Amino acid sequence: MNFIKNFRLSFIIMLCVLGLLAISFIGKQEDDKIKIAKQVKFSAKVNVADNVILPEGFVDTLKKAEDILSKILSSEEFKKELSKRSFADSAFSKTKKTCFERIYDEKGRVSGLGVYENITRNPNIEIEWVIKKYKDGEKTSVMGFATFCVNRITSHDYWIKNGQHLSLRFVRHLAHEYTHVCGYKHDKLLPKEHKFKKGDDPAMGVGSIVGDIMLDWTKKGLL
Ligand SMILES: [Zn+2]
Repeated sequence: MNFIKNFRLSFIIMLCVLGLLAISFIGKQEDDKIKIAKQVKFSAKVNVADNVILPEGFVDTLKKAEDILSKILSSEEFKKELSKRSFADSAFSKTKKTCFERIYDEKGRVSGLGVYENITRNPNIEIEWVIKKYKDGEKTSVMGFATFCVNRITSHDYWIKNGQHLSLRFVRHLAHEYTHVCGYKHDKLLPKEHKFKKGDDPAMGVGSIVGDIMLDWTKKGLL
């Protein structure tokens, strides 16, 4: 009789332990899941110059980059990190085009949450990605460029080579250039007194946030 009682008790204790283990496991899984703020899909239609040779596996590399960038732009984490930031008040393009909204914070700086709103305004981003032949002897360190409110990104082929996680470099580059499409410029042509300070540049800021999230998710096995 005693034996049966003991057996029952240890069985119940065992069930409790298993239950607790299951709860903590599910809790951990929840923590590691990507939380969605707003579903955004980023896709690129590639337009390659005749004399450009794309690296082997380019189609798959780009597909992977599109998936990762879509996940990051959709995530709560991207929204949260960008909302913590603000940028130089002169970071908006002077263009008269109206595909974006000029959103400032209470200090008169370009609002990070506003940058997020502009980047995620279109939930189905379809970019034409022009890959241009880099001419030998041409002086440039520019990886690519984009025009405000035009859904096109142009990139030089010189850096589009396999190795060093090409898909991840695509993600950062496309995120940076898409920030320009959404109305934000660099300070290159500004007079000295309006020059951006470190961290004041929206395209650089978006690029680094996207890069950090990618690194974090890679470590957690989410990508
Ligand atoms: Zn740029």
